[in-house]
Amino acid sequence: MVGPQRAQGRAWGGGGGAVREDNFESPDNFMSVAVLAAQSSKDPSTKVGACIVSQDNKVVGIGYNAMPNGCDGRFPWGKDAGNDLDKKHFYVCHAELNAIMNKNSADVKNCTMYVALFPCNECAKLIIQAGIKEVVYLSDEDHDKPATEASRRLLEAAGIVTM
Ligand SMILES: [Zn+2]
Repeated sequence: MVGPQRAQGRAWGGGGGAVREDNFESPDNFMSVAVLAAQSSKDPSTKVGACIVSQDNKVVGIGYNAMPNGCDGRFPWGKDAGNDLDKKHFYVCHAELNAIMNKNSADVKNCTMYVALFPCNECAKLIIQAGIKEVVYLSDEDHDKPATEASRRLLEAAGIVTM
């Protein structure tokens, strides 16, 4: 479902300072894995990470936005050039794609994806086809873009839970 709480996602952390049980298998830690993965991105403006978690709480895939394998340095990272061919968008592989392709399990069916930014429509298609059943996101800053609206429609139609 697409909640009405746009531009906030889930409230992470904030245990009120209380000491909590140390448990790696928590949503907070899985999102932390995604956020840490984002730091490896060479994108100067938007670093996004994704982490796929199986039903038994194992991390089975991690990715961040990057140029295709072997293409580093061959394509631009800018987004403001006059010509679309000189912008990053045609070339970059999003974090979600890389996390799925990097999976270390046979498949990612019924897994949960933790991702720093609400997925675009292209990644929504990948998420659906990969059999992922839940998407947990941190930021929804692209909420008003048509691609994000298309993504919401796709994910909702496919019955994928977003939170
Ligand atoms: Zn995407």
